[in-house]
Amino acid sequence: MNQNDFHFKKKFGQNFLKDPNIPRKIVDVANISEDSLVIEIGPGAGTLTKVLASKAKQVCCYEIDQELKTILDRELLDFHNVCIFYDDFLQRDVRKDLDQFEYSHLYVIANLPYYITTPIITKLIESNLEIEKIIVMVQKEVADRLCAKVGDREYGSITVFLNYYFHLKKEFLVSRNLFVPKPNVDSMVISLTKKENNFPTENFQLFAQLVRDSFRYKRKMLRNNLKNYNLDSIEQVLKKYGFDLTVRAEELSLEIFIDISNHL
Ligand code: SAM
Repeated sequence: MNQNDFHFKKKFGQNFLKDPNIPRKIVDVANISEDSLVIEIGPGAGTLTKVLASKAKQVCCYEIDQELKTILDRELLDFHNVCIFYDDFLQRDVRKDLDQFEYSHLYVIANLPYYITTPIITKLIESNLEIEKIIVMVQKEVADRLCAKVGDREYGSITVFLNYYFHLKKEFLVSRNLFVPKPNVDSMVISLTKKENNFPTENFQLFAQLVRDSFRYKRKMLRNNLKNYNLDSIEQVLKKYGFDLTVRAEELSLEIFIDISNHL
């Protein structure tokens, strides 16, 4: 891409990869099987898209910036398996968009626009699509939060929800120097691989509410965050794991949250 062709838009989180080795490394992590559909959010100038299109059966992209169409048409001229919706991913009915494709495996692979990382991941989870793997590049600090372990300072409700659905892994660090324009932060590629749930919730809504409420005030004890719940019942479960109601949410694993919600 000739940089004089295009004015980068900060409001769309446009920091494009200039090193073609990074897309190759991302695709290696993904280990894409042939009969697969890959969703890419934000193809930008197509650096990652081209590598995805050379491996997957189909690539379905969402790009909010119409101005990139000329560049993408040119860059992707040789690929006939890429479909691009020029629209805001967050507004799309993705399930409906995917009706036109036939595939056996579904992946999401993207260098995400950082200003909407959490809404995008939340939408992917709530869409109930059969996504096998999500491989995304996010801001390093966000990766620390999403992949946090029990007891880490960054461990929060989003970590617990993601752990419910996926095995999370930090794959590799990407220096800010490999982007144009250069952002103020480094990035991390993370992978989320679908879990076969072996400890299911009896009532997912209740579990979700419990997790959100438990982390409402992070520094508060569970007793204070969950005032409106049946605290006796919660304490009974906590005791099994060697805790009491003075524990803080950040010390509780996914399994303990599920166990509590199943007892309420
Ligand atoms: N994939 C390219 C790369 O790695 O070089 C570009 C990644 S750049 C970090 C994020 C891209 O997401 C930009 O192309 C931006 O225009 C696009 N974008 C931002 N908000 C979006 C949204 N709501 N829906 C779809 N695309 C969006």
